[in-house]
Amino acid sequence: MEISFEEKKEKLFEVYARFEQEITPYLQQAFCKAGCSFCCTFMGNIDIVTLEGLIITEHIEGLPEELQAAVKKKIGENKTLKENGQKPPCPFLQKNNTCQIYAVRPFSCRQLYSVRECSAGSPTTHRRAVESARSTIQEIQKLDDSGYSGHISYVIHLLKDLSFRKLYLSGGFAPEQIMKFGKTHGIIINRFVK
Ligand code: SF4
Ligand code: SF4
Repeated sequence: MEISFEEKKEKLFEVYARFEQEITPYLQQAFCKAGCSFCCTFMGNIDIVTLEGLIITEHIEGLPEELQAAVKKKIGENKTLKENGQKPPCPFLQKNNTCQIYAVRPFSCRQLYSVRECSAGSPTTHRRAVESARSTIQEIQKLDDSGYSGHISYVIHLLKDLSFRKLYLSGGFAPEQIMKFGKTHGIIINRFVK
C-alpha cells in the first residue's frame, strides 16, 4: 500500500536520525564546524531524492516572499551553471558560510564529514561510515520508490511543474513524463535502483 507524503517524510527523518546515531562515534572525531563550507562550495553534485526535494521546496515556500525569490534565483543559476558543465556552490550556502536549509538538508549533506580539514582534497571519512551511508541511500531510494534521484537544483526544478508535483504527491508514477529531462540531466528512477 502506498503511504502518504507526510508518513514518508516522518520515516525519512527517522532514517536520518538512525544514521546519525550509527555514525556518532565517527562524527565525534570530525573536524567539521559551523562556517566550514568547502564541501558546500566545491561538491558540485548534491544528489537528493524527490521526497527530499519536496521537503526543501515546502521549506522555501514558507519563507518571506523576497527571500523566496532570491533563493529561487540562486537555484535557477545553479541549474544553468551545472548544465554548462560547471561546479557551482550549493544554492543554499549563505554569505556567512552557513546552510540556509540546515533543518531540512538532504542526506547527501548529512552523511558528509571529515576527520581532517578539507581543502584541495575530498573529505577523509571512516570506511564503516561510508558503508552505512551507502545502505542508507538505498533505504531512502526505496522509501521514495515513486520518485527520482538527481542533483538538487534539477530535482527542485522538476517539482516546479505542478502536474508533476500533484502526480508525485498522489503516489502516481509516470517516468515517461520526465524522460527527456531525466536522460539529459542524469536523473535516476528510484524504483529501479538495486
Ligand atoms: S566535510 Fe570538510 S568542508 Fe565540510 S564541514 Fe566537514 S571538514 Fe568542513
Ligand atoms: S544544502 Fe546546506 S549543507 Fe548541503 S551543500 Fe547546501 S549549504 Fe551545504
